[in-house]
Amino acid sequence: MRITVVGAGYVGLTTGACFAHLGNEVLVVEKIPQKVELLKSGRSPIYEPGLEELLRENIKEGRLRFTSDLREGLEFSEVIFICVGTPQAPDGSADLSQVEEVARETAKLMTSYKLLVEKSTVPVNTHKLVKRTVYRYLKDKSIPYDVASNPEFLREGSAIEDFLKPDRIVVGVESERAKSIFQELYKSFDCPVIYTDPATSELIKHASNSFLAMKISFINMVADLCEKTGADVKLVADGMGYDKRIGRAFLNAGIGYGGSCFPKDVKAFIRMAQDYGLDFGLLKDVEKINQERPVRFLDKIKYVLWSLKDKKVAVWGLSFKPNTDDIREAPSIRIVELLLKEGAYLSLYDPKAMENFKLVFPEGRQVNYAKDMYSAVENASVLLILTEWEEFQKANLQRVKELMELPVIVDGRNIFEKDAMKSMGFEYYAVGR
Ligand code: NAD
Repeated sequence: MRITVVGAGYVGLTTGACFAHLGNEVLVVEKIPQKVELLKSGRSPIYEPGLEELLRENIKEGRLRFTSDLREGLEFSEVIFICVGTPQAPDGSADLSQVEEVARETAKLMTSYKLLVEKSTVPVNTHKLVKRTVYRYLKDKSIPYDVASNPEFLREGSAIEDFLKPDRIVVGVESERAKSIFQELYKSFDCPVIYTDPATSELIKHASNSFLAMKISFINMVADLCEKTGADVKLVADGMGYDKRIGRAFLNAGIGYGGSCFPKDVKAFIRMAQDYGLDFGLLKDVEKINQERPVRFLDKIKYVLWSLKDKKVAVWGLSFKPNTDDIREAPSIRIVELLLKEGAYLSLYDPKAMENFKLVFPEGRQVNYAKDMYSAVENASVLLILTEWEEFQKANLQRVKELMELPVIVDGRNIFEKDAMKSMGFEYYAVGR
């Protein structure tokens, strides 16, 4: 099939590369010309494992192309995947201006049938607004079109695997014509494909993300209880997780959820409920618990070090999760802010996210970026672990101990075993254990 993808971010690039990999012809429309140039040369503007290789392979095979011209995208295919950003607006709602722009500009340029697919995460009933906008701007009102919802559930860091082998595919459609396009598109996928109406599909995505965020905040509160009582949150999560009704995933206690999805999606869900006259108090607590995590983590560091003023603090991990360079809403941002206020000198290291982090915290008197994880810890009074990169789990801890001023680790991601760390001579503080 021929497919047009609008937006070359984490979702758009993965969608484009994976559909091309499955044998489709794909044209990705991206409005930032520098990104298009970079992509044309086979380089990815973001770090996502395996993505650059997949892009190159499909560009070479002639199945994947890039442009900044939406008109070209519309001439190329009748299926338009909208993969643009839906960031948080100042009032907590989803800012849908990028989606509106695509709908409006598409309508102005449309000369034949189009299926507009919302892959971006949008509040329930956004499809109605997209439909209305297309109709308003359509020059020839007799041109047929459909608007469908096909939310994306991929996780950064394992985006390609998640796209190609999803747990399920959700499609919200209103016409047989649109449904048959999706049936063709997804016929090679070996997972349940749920066909529903667009409002239900839109809601499935937001409800799923909010539920997962709820699991994280839940286990983080349990972690606090564990710290007060001497129980071990990892074992509590294991014990809970064996129950099929609960499941072990998303029960890792730590410094809270971040990223470009959960924080904004939970906020948007609360706001959306409010717009319909409902108070989603449960999710307000989920958010409150999450916002408190960096402060609780700082309290722990202060309890360990007493004063942070003029101390050298090494930080391993800046991205909001491993295997990505994405730092959007990463807990590390808030924690670094708090550490700087305390007067600490920071030596930061992340395998992929340092360039992005430098844009928020440029190198300076209190902020230094280390070339590797070992130089980060040289003469440090404490090592903080903020992202569970595999590289850190495999670190030579003997070397780390020798390089540090004091062998003290405060681990915000519970990546090491307490007893083993103790027997190596570390003072090791984790979360909820
Ligand atoms: P992103 O910000 O990384 O990428 C969006 C891209 O769209 C940018 O490159 C931007 O320049 C481009 N763009 C904006 N307006 C455009 C236009 N009019 N024409 C062409 N290009 C345009 O965003 P993302 O992380 O890929 O997320 C996209 C959507 O998918 C969001 O709604 C997000 O909530 C959702 N989502 C994200 C993830 C994730 O893990 N990142 C997972 C599932 C769903």
